[in-house]
Amino acid sequence: MAILVLSGPSGAGKSTIINNATQHIGSYYFSISTTTRTPRAGEADGREYFFVSKEEFERDIEAGYFLEYAKVHDNYYGTSLKPVIKALDEGRLVIFDIDVQGHNLVRKLLNDITTSIFITPPTLNELERRLNLRSLDDKNIIQRRIINAKKEIESIKEFDFIIINETIEQATKEFITIANAARLKRSYEEIDNIVKYWKN
Ligand code: 5GP
Repeated sequence: MAILVLSGPSGAGKSTIINNATQHIGSYYFSISTTTRTPRAGEADGREYFFVSKEEFERDIEAGYFLEYAKVHDNYYGTSLKPVIKALDEGRLVIFDIDVQGHNLVRKLLNDITTSIFITPPTLNELERRLNLRSLDDKNIIQRRIINAKKEIESIKEFDFIIINETIEQATKEFITIANAARLKRSYEEIDNIVKYWKN
């Protein structure tokens, strides 16, 4: 059972890295989050996110559907519990693209099976340049993402690994190495069993 948490500012290249790595990290499940933000051009419901209203999201919180959720840039984002449990049972590496608050919660709940990576462009200027280049968001939203990124970088020490995305090839290589090592982590339960067996 293994979880890989990826955090880092929007525009850090997380989705590109995962897409490039798919053939090299074995069987995995990329957790599709639920959000109240509006879809960007080219995003589809059920592919990048499940897009829901604020009311629906709050109903789901009440119903206990989320493993974790957080407010990021004034919108809710959350990870549904059920598909994660199913994928873990199937022995797949479960990958989360969540913010630093989500990372904190997952650490508290599932510390023993979690490996985490913070992915970032080399500098704040470079992040701004990439967000503008991508031009998926309007200027105000980009500014909000920059402010959020400045806040998020303060939490970088809480992560097991940091990938500085200078080039996509190098970042993907590092990601593949970490993802394959993440699978080798043993849960506390497995470790207890190893110790019991070892003593017999
Ligand atoms: P974006 O709007 O660019 O898709 O995502 C904004 C931020 O929300 C990113 O930092 C992303 O990692 C985070 N995020 C996406 N899904 C989740 C989630 O399910 N939980 C949490 N805590 N953060 C999420």
